[in-house]
Amino acid sequence: MAYLGDTSQILVDTTYVFTTDQKIATPDDVLTWARDVGDANKIGIIITRSDKENGIRGRNDKLILGCDKGGKYDSSESSTASKKCNCPFKIRVAPSTDGSGWNVQVIHGVHNHGLPDQYHGHPRKAHLTADVNKRVEDLTKSHVAPRHIVLDLKDQNPESVVDAKHVYRKRHMMQKEERDSRTELQTLAVVVR
Ligand SMILES: [Zn+2]
Repeated sequence: MAYLGDTSQILVDTTYVFTTDQKIATPDDVLTWARDVGDANKIGIIITRSDKENGIRGRNDKLILGCDKGGKYDSSESSTASKKCNCPFKIRVAPSTDGSGWNVQVIHGVHNHGLPDQYHGHPRKAHLTADVNKRVEDLTKSHVAPRHIVLDLKDQNPESVVDAKHVYRKRHMMQKEERDSRTELQTLAVVVR
């Protein structure tokens, strides 16, 4: 079972699906969010480490999230689905310095194993039609909560299969686009100067 040195080793980069500028209110909310994103991408999210300073939430608190395939491979496990393979995936969650919430930082977004129903290296795209996509985008821009967006879509089309995970994912992509365009603008500003 030597995976190291095996040239066919599967690597799946999920950095962008977990990348967010959003400050999240509490560590519990972060966990819920990370599990939603994980579910949508077939990744089991676990708490690797939870540090609490003196039992009171403060500056030195942090939460490390990992993949359920992290840790040593254990040959005694019977189910292949749950086999650990030392997956290095790691997310760090810590309070923002201004105290307004918790920041999510992807330390290592690459998994060393395949994810079910996914094209390797290409995180699964939500099956949203252009119309639904636009609606999600508009409502997200108006700061409508994901669960309300889902209800809205169900109102318009009772057969809607869009769930909160799709909405979260869409939102992350929007944030990423926004960040990219901001970077572009900054680059332009530097050039103009
Ligand atoms: Zn993994």
